[in-house]
Amino acid sequence: MQKVTILGATGSIGRSTIDVLLRHPEMFKVFALTANSNIDLLLQQALICSPEYVVVSDLKYYQQAKELFAQSTLNCEVLAGNDALELVASDANVDVVMAAIVGAAGLLPTLAAARAGKKVLLANKESLVMSGDLFIQTANKYKAQLLPIDSEHNAIFQCLPADFTYGDLPASGISKILLTGSGGPFLNLPLQDLSHVGPEQACAHPNWSMGRKISVDSATMMNKGLEFIEARWLFGLQSDDIQVVLHPQSIIHSMVQYLDGSVIAQMGNPDMRTPIAHALAYPQRVESGVAALDFNQLTDFTFSQPSKERYPNLTLAIEASNAGQYATTSLNAANEIAVDSFLQGQISFTQIAEVNNECLQQITSHKLDTIDEVIASDQNARRVSLEIIKRINPPAMLRTK
Ligand code: NDP
Repeated sequence: MQKVTILGATGSIGRSTIDVLLRHPEMFKVFALTANSNIDLLLQQALICSPEYVVVSDLKYYQQAKELFAQSTLNCEVLAGNDALELVASDANVDVVMAAIVGAAGLLPTLAAARAGKKVLLANKESLVMSGDLFIQTANKYKAQLLPIDSEHNAIFQCLPADFTYGDLPASGISKILLTGSGGPFLNLPLQDLSHVGPEQACAHPNWSMGRKISVDSATMMNKGLEFIEARWLFGLQSDDIQVVLHPQSIIHSMVQYLDGSVIAQMGNPDMRTPIAHALAYPQRVESGVAALDFNQLTDFTFSQPSKERYPNLTLAIEASNAGQYATTSLNAANEIAVDSFLQGQISFTQIAEVNNECLQQITSHKLDTIDEVIASDQNARRVSLEIIKRINPPAMLRTK
């Protein structure tokens, strides 16, 4: 029986994780569930999962959460704040930590899980984007097991040979990693219309149901850019080792191309319960609740190259990954601010890339050797991006929202 902490239990990945766990009560027991502010859902989840702890990270909701849980039949402790997130991620009783907090807020608790040598199921790609080398070194030093949850990285992991050599594709007989992406909801929208799309259109992903931040990132393909950076750290890759391939149907989740011309792909319906179940049970296989692929229904199966004009954020992320840690940390922070401003109607969709680009232009190269330096760099890029956004005039259409 493995005890599981779910960081970000009330989010899209968190809810899918609970769905999979409940299918296997003989294998897993929930130790802790965390939310930022959604205490009503947290209570509902706790009533089903009976955790030992729940954590509400936003202190404003602590008192309310304590009262809510006190009125219930539950016997779990209610904790609050960021320190409590780290506590339930590193507790000696925990075996597995699902790192599914969105954004930079996920870094410290995920790092705490790695430092405690846990089996870390990594959905929070920002941990590697912000602190790649530091994070991998910590995981290695404390013998944490990192298993990718992002469907693409999980697919790559499944397609790699069992004796894969980190950082050396030819030694493993591999020529390329093919990172697939759907292209998001605006794949075929005329370019001149991109500046007019609003948050609801951007969040309406054609294949995946996800949180709002990652949905916008999928529409700009910044998500693929962050995944590009994440893949470099997870598998020790050079930029040239990875090719991004558009595959709008989201059935192939990524591929590994071998030196002999073979290509191994991982396929499945676009449902995050598959990578979650894979990582939870690894190296076993368990049922996930995802319907089997029906090959009689798969009429189209297409592939193409992403356009640089349509997806400037993807190019920015690849360039940042070549520039170094300071650039990817800054880009991630700038993008979080820009996406939030877009979701609030303060900037247009195409201005997300403008803010990210200008922020990177303003920030000069600096070393990031410690977690404090990573956090300072993140904070600085947020400040710079907010200044840039203040200068930008929102289009009239969005200003009224
Ligand atoms: P959601 O927005 O759906 O959920 C985010 C979770 O994080 C919620 O539990 C939320 O709590 C919590 N949270 C938000 N802000 C904070 C904070 N400041 N401190 C602590 N907790 C916080 O996100 P997703 O589930 O879509 O994504 C989670 C992570 O997984 C992201 O890093 C994303 O890139 C990655 N991912 C997601 C995929 C998907 O299909 N959704 C696919 C691959 C990767 P509350 O509900 O209270 O706000």
